[in-house]
Amino acid sequence: MQKEVSIIGGGIAGLSAAVFLADKGYKIRLFEASPKFGGRTYSFFDKTIEAEIDNGQHILASWYKNTFDYLRIIGSLDKLTFQKKLRVKFIDNEANEYLFECPNLPPPFHLLAGIIKYKALRYQDKKALIRLVNLLKKGKLRGLESMNTDRLFSESGQTERLIKNFWEPFIIAVFNAKPKDTSAKMFADVIKTGFLEKGGSELVLPNDTLSNILISPAIEYLRGKGSEAFSNSRITKINFEDNRITSIITEDNKELKSDFYISAVPFFEFKDVLGESIYNKVSKAGNLKPSPIVNIHLRFEEDIDDVFTERFAGLLGTNVQWVFKSAKDRLTLVISSAGEIAEMDKEVIVETALRELKMCIKGFENKKLRASRVIKEMRATFVPDQESLSSRPDNITIFENFFIAGDWTNTGLPATIEGAVKSSKYCSDLIFNL
Ligand SMILES: Cc1cc2nc3c(=O)[nH]c(=O)nc-3n(C[C@H](O)[C@H](O)[C@H](O)COP(=O)(O)OP(=O)(O)OC[C@H]3O[C@@H](n4cnc5c(N)ncnc54)[C@H](O)[C@@H]3O)c2cc1C
Repeated sequence: MQKEVSIIGGGIAGLSAAVFLADKGYKIRLFEASPKFGGRTYSFFDKTIEAEIDNGQHILASWYKNTFDYLRIIGSLDKLTFQKKLRVKFIDNEANEYLFECPNLPPPFHLLAGIIKYKALRYQDKKALIRLVNLLKKGKLRGLESMNTDRLFSESGQTERLIKNFWEPFIIAVFNAKPKDTSAKMFADVIKTGFLEKGGSELVLPNDTLSNILISPAIEYLRGKGSEAFSNSRITKINFEDNRITSIITEDNKELKSDFYISAVPFFEFKDVLGESIYNKVSKAGNLKPSPIVNIHLRFEEDIDDVFTERFAGLLGTNVQWVFKSAKDRLTLVISSAGEIAEMDKEVIVETALRELKMCIKGFENKKLRASRVIKEMRATFVPDQESLSSRPDNITIFENFFIAGDWTNTGLPATIEGAVKSSKYCSDLIFNL
């Protein structure tokens, strides 16, 4: 008989768990509390910008293998652009441009070649950087679990300019946190996966809206397989007996039973869903702290291709860290680890962002702004500091038919799409192998 799995949460973790299991012949019931699927990745039509926009610019990397498996199954892989080699243009607040480009050489030589040519660093900086990469590659650094990257950087002689023009932009982009709030262990693991192993370091950019790539095709796929996905469907209670979950209860008080259950809710809703008694048995999620990301969508009166020829660029020495061209007359500006900025009025954020844009990229002083939209995601990710390492639960629980997925579980990765999908792949493999 076909086995049934109930999945709580319709973000990327829940959707991908559903897809992996439906692909193996399981019948899925997916419950999403909000009116839309996608969780922290979604798109909507914005009346001010007069276009379909994403809640936040998302970037993938060529080592996002689990994510690509998911996208392959739902038929979305061709909606991504894969860089042929890692290439990022940085622009500082005096409009100086620096190219960081890694040729197609085996790792870590591609990275070393990129570093050598990167003009935002001087000889001493490059020497310090290469020394740290070497230590990471050889696995020679001890005590990484008990420090954040600011200490690792000071202990390994990373220079101020190197931190400002290389490590900080990298860490903020990948971890949505400053070096002082980023675990050295997680940093070392990401450098290994992203730069020192064969998976590839290239960036991967969406060619369509997040919903069209990651969400709607998954819902279609699930329904095509005879599975069910319900929005506006909050799960309010989980019942258990001994070492098994026995049923879940919906907001309108329906009791539902299935063979297996997966929680794919974010860390900040986990306790509510589980209830005190189950939470105390399975979780150590208590210490995770949220970290915000602010996205500023700008639409201009005319095309901007003549002044900004890149698809995206990193900014140095500004609050805005990344500029993405989203259409010929539109930009998305990103401020990650946005603590203080996220507290500001939206008008002040737009003013600040525009001022910085004009400082960095010549020609924008002549472009007239038509519309702007600021999206503050106050709980975009968790702060990946050293304390977070012991606060991430394993995917397996003391209940033999209950698993936990989500970007915040113990994947070894920062809170990313790949982290979410890796967790769900692991949960679905566990169920499949039972
Ligand atoms: C602005 C922004 C930019 C980002 N940029 C990047 C990037 O460039 N690259 C990258 O890889 N990652 C990025 N991320 C991170 C990425 O979006 C997340 O890691 C990922 O979407 C998390 O997915 P999830 O399924 O684990 O959690 P969520 O997306 O939070 O999904 C959980 C779902 O559970 C639902 N839920 C909660 N309680 C219940 C309940 N009781 N019953 C039913 N449903 C419930 C919620 O409504 C939600 O839809 C970014 C995030 C943001 C916000």
